[in-house]
Amino acid sequence: MLGLGIESTAHTFSCAVLEKTRKTGKILSDVRKIYRPSEGEGIHPREASRHHIEHSSAVLSESLSEAGVTIRDLDIVSYAAGPGLGPCLRVGAVVARAISSYYSIPIYPVNHAIGHIELGKLLTGAQNPLVLLVSGGHTMILAFLNKQWRVFGETLDITLGQLLDQFGRSIGFASPCGKNIEELANTTTNYVTLPYSVKGNDVSFSGLLSATKSIASTNKPDACFSLQETAFAMISEAVERALSFTRKKELMVVGGVAANKRLSQMLQDVCKRHKAKFFIVPLKYAGDCGSQICWTGLLESQTKKSASLEQTFVTQSWRLDSVVIDY
Ligand code: AMP
Ligand code: MG
Repeated sequence: MLGLGIESTAHTFSCAVLEKTRKTGKILSDVRKIYRPSEGEGIHPREASRHHIEHSSAVLSESLSEAGVTIRDLDIVSYAAGPGLGPCLRVGAVVARAISSYYSIPIYPVNHAIGHIELGKLLTGAQNPLVLLVSGGHTMILAFLNKQWRVFGETLDITLGQLLDQFGRSIGFASPCGKNIEELANTTTNYVTLPYSVKGNDVSFSGLLSATKSIASTNKPDACFSLQETAFAMISEAVERALSFTRKKELMVVGGVAANKRLSQMLQDVCKRHKAKFFIVPLKYAGDCGSQICWTGLLESQTKKSASLEQTFVTQSWRLDSVVIDY
């Protein structure tokens, strides 16, 4: 089976071609163009969608030629139908719909967050993990039970990615800022006490964001270091409780923030204490990409009929724990 996957939920427009055999999947191409707002600014949905429209044709052509296939070779096309920014989501849906209707190729709308998890499982080999999904749009601790991913903890306000990006923008970085914050944090070990807020098994980051902004005027590196230490310790505590409760023997971390070495180090320590195996999505595939959408579409096509064109909707707030999975 050969699939094309289209990702356009937020800052990234990406097309990927994957081949699925009976046992596994192979990424033949994964081409991306990332919209970058000016320094100090967040994603402007209309401008991001304009960026995606401008690059969609070139990204699609490049992904097909890199994979060495033509559109007629494709068995299915899938696209990220949500959650995400409406104007951005619609670009991917339109491209997928056009390919599907012109070439009569079955089409599959895919949940973007499920895409992060499925691609993580393919690339790490994790079988039955507790999942930590940390990205621009999500901060969730999840375990799979009875055909659905169940939430064992999540953020009560902003996500970990938003915390890093909003703080980063306030000190002049351009979004996404996680990498810049990590680099600056690595230049010091001076911890300044910040609000630590774990409620039940959920976390809350908005108070931490305000407090970190207020100490940044004194010392930016210390603020970055202390922000990472506090936020990652909160997440690690919630993960540790969930590991202990679910007794899972695997932890898998996916989403853009998985690229952070300090977060990974803290979570590895948690896993050691619980004798759980630690899996982290490879850096190249941690952030949003067409492969996550393509692979999930290929998995769905095993048991699910393709969507009619009328069903090729987009849903800005489509929670992953509402998706029934039976492949
Ligand atoms: P995604 O939405 O999955 O593409 O993830 C994007 C998020 O990952 C943004 O909030 C980035 O700031 C964050 N991110 C990327 N690299 C790093 C890093 N090295 N450390 C922390 N966060 C990161
Ligand atoms: Mg994402």
